[in-house]
Amino acid sequence: MRVSWHDRFAEAIGVLKSSEHHQTVIKVRDLEIGGDDFVTMAGPCSVETEHQILATAHHVRRGGARVLRGGAFKPRTSPYAFQGLGLEGLKMLAKAREETGLAIVTEVMSEDDVPLVAEYADILQIGSRNMENFALLELAAQSGKPILLKRGMMATVADLLRSAQIVFDNGNPNIILCERGIRTFETALRNTFDAATIALIKQISHLPIIADPSHACGHRDLVPALARTGVAAGADGLIVEVHPNPDKAWSDGDQSLSFAEFDAMMTSLEPYIALRKEALMSWPMGAAG
Ligand code: PEP
Ligand code: MN
Repeated sequence: MRVSWHDRFAEAIGVLKSSEHHQTVIKVRDLEIGGDDFVTMAGPCSVETEHQILATAHHVRRGGARVLRGGAFKPRTSPYAFQGLGLEGLKMLAKAREETGLAIVTEVMSEDDVPLVAEYADILQIGSRNMENFALLELAAQSGKPILLKRGMMATVADLLRSAQIVFDNGNPNIILCERGIRTFETALRNTFDAATIALIKQISHLPIIADPSHACGHRDLVPALARTGVAAGADGLIVEVHPNPDKAWSDGDQSLSFAEFDAMMTSLEPYIALRKEALMSWPMGAAG
């Protein structure tokens, strides 16, 4: 790693690669994130009904996902949009884990909810809108659960790494970063997918980083291409929205894949994931500095 990156991101020194710390591998139930395996997290934007979450969980597990996503507490841009099922949704996620063995990632939006969400989730998601909610970051970190830290939509790489450093400084090194698109002058898509940040993080940080192609573009037709881009850039995994009936989804239907589309995406990713594995064996990501 070039020394200049250390200067540039000096406020996040604990999450930068060092001679002692090259790559963090996070153990979640029976899987490792940040290791050799590419980890797919999949599921609906929001938990809606027991049938919806169970059907999705079984389907994505068969397709190769290892983690089930689904929001029980939803940060919505509109105050009139569906805000999530809360505790009822968490219980449905726990049932899906029991039936499928998938680990659970779900968002925690407020400090008050940290103990409750930590009781049910295997990974606590900090959403884009809360990336700089430092009080929430501190409490979530102190829960001891791995943290999925999504990049703020207006956050620079330095901002993202600083937030990760706060989690790290609160005694929790199990941080998964997530590139989910940022706001730029381009408005054709929901956000601009910043694949370069994935490549950069792989060079400079020991933390795993995953790609969220769903929120990055907002259109299900583009999700597979962005997912492949994420793998090619060096991502350790993927978080993708999948719904049994996307057109009827209570949130983010436009960007949610149907079951058939999820299967097609997973098949199209296979050669990219195989190449990633080969590259890791011969040239570990980020080793070039
Ligand atoms: C989500 O994962 O459904 C979500 C709201 O993501 P973000 O915080 O990246 O917008
Ligand atoms: Mn969503």
